[in-house]
Amino acid sequence: MLKHSIFSLLVSGLLLFSCDTTNTLSTTNTSPVEFVVLQINDVYEIAPLEGGKVGGLARVAGLLRQLEAENPNTIAVLAGDFLSPSFMGTLKLDNGERIAGLQMVEALNAMGLDYATFGNHEFDLKNAELLEKRLDQSEFEYMTTNAYCVDGEQQRPFQQNGVSVPEFSTFTFEQNGATYKLGIVGVVLPFAKPPYVGYKDVEATFAAAVKTARQETDLVIGLTHLSVDGDVALAAAVPGLPLFMGGHEHENLSRYVGQTAITKADANAKTVYIHRFTYYPDSKVTQLFSELVPIDESTPEDPVTAAVVDKWQAKIGDLISQMGYDASAELTTLATPLNGTEAATRTSQTNYGLLTNQAIAKAWPGADVYAFNSGSLRLDDNLSGAVTAYDVLRSFPYGGPVVRMSMKGDQLARLLNTGETTNRGEGGYLQRYQAEKKGDKWIVNGNPLDSTNTYVVVLPEFMAKGFEANLDFLSEYTYDKLEEFTASGETVKNDIRDMVIWYMGGI
Ligand SMILES: [Zn+2]
Repeated sequence: MLKHSIFSLLVSGLLLFSCDTTNTLSTTNTSPVEFVVLQINDVYEIAPLEGGKVGGLARVAGLLRQLEAENPNTIAVLAGDFLSPSFMGTLKLDNGERIAGLQMVEALNAMGLDYATFGNHEFDLKNAELLEKRLDQSEFEYMTTNAYCVDGEQQRPFQQNGVSVPEFSTFTFEQNGATYKLGIVGVVLPFAKPPYVGYKDVEATFAAAVKTARQETDLVIGLTHLSVDGDVALAAAVPGLPLFMGGHEHENLSRYVGQTAITKADANAKTVYIHRFTYYPDSKVTQLFSELVPIDESTPEDPVTAAVVDKWQAKIGDLISQMGYDASAELTTLATPLNGTEAATRTSQTNYGLLTNQAIAKAWPGADVYAFNSGSLRLDDNLSGAVTAYDVLRSFPYGGPVVRMSMKGDQLARLLNTGETTNRGEGGYLQRYQAEKKGDKWIVNGNPLDSTNTYVVVLPEFMAKGFEANLDFLSEYTYDKLEEFTASGETVKNDIRDMVIWYMGGI
């Protein structure tokens, strides 16, 4: 039996819905038609997290096998954000290529995923060639109404095995001797802006694709990677669909807008949504029961998917131990989750940013200000429960040393203001320690910033070299750099990952 979480009882609902589509594709049949959609979204890790307690694609696959046994008309969908980011994805294979989502594609193939739409993180891949290679390797179908490939002068749909990624996918199934078609329309928020991606208007393209899908299928639903506000606005603008299966937010939620249910599961498959549809062909009424189901130690594993996950885990474990880390080492158990979501770390000071700076300050005390670019924190999730070294590695996949430089107060103000204001929303937004903004003044180490004083600042070498956006002036400064630190009688390598692992092990 499937477990019902208390939260699912609160948010799940029975929805009676009268479909406004007019089509003649289905054979007239008075028997109700039942099908099931399993939804996951924002999945970066193939293996369970929090010390093995939650998530894991082998468990999602195990649940999917159970659902398929109950009703063969079951599909699995992913509402975007999975090829990136992950620590695993940053590592290189024997052939020198970065893994860049291949581990995820292989695990999802084994799981039997049917459909995916792009999330903003799919466009983290360095170019269209690599993204389309991953599409070709996927045994599931992608769809999107609004993202397209910018290929030199040309604008074209992304290609999967030589076929244009469609605006909507069609799941065709048989029941009671008749054939039915479910249309799934994909859309993504225009957030990631690499040179090879362009976007058309979300609402206009979605509305047009829904119109076409309604003509060609029996029932149309959305697979949407939008902010929840974007989902609400789209459901209001394009009414009448029973369901938007969404992503981008990392905590489960459900909303109703008119007749449309909007659902998002927790990131990293800590939960999944199971949508059970009953469709009455004659009246074209759809009944939907959506249930949020936790993925945990009680969820049975699918052995085929588990073998693929284990293969990658072993490969990654080898690479990590070659780097000198013990990935499975448990560092601490968190009473309060650490916020490493991009939405938070690129716009505000978070507790994970503070902890990271405190780790650096403990390793290298004595500076006036500690700061790092939030773009080096790539977790885009919260850390909760038991934290392992692997969790720190996946938080800071690129790692790197910190350096120490001196600068006049007016230049420190320039650094802090650029981080706080100009770079807000970007990876160049700074997580800070001992520098607080009060009104339009900076308080440094307890005192108002004096533009004529000289201050000592510790920051990543990446920033000191002038590589961060709008902070290239930092390259004019000389800096000190140590290979390792001796603190509290221990030696710590000068790498942000080592310092956080060391610090967490002691908290
Ligand atoms: Zn996203």
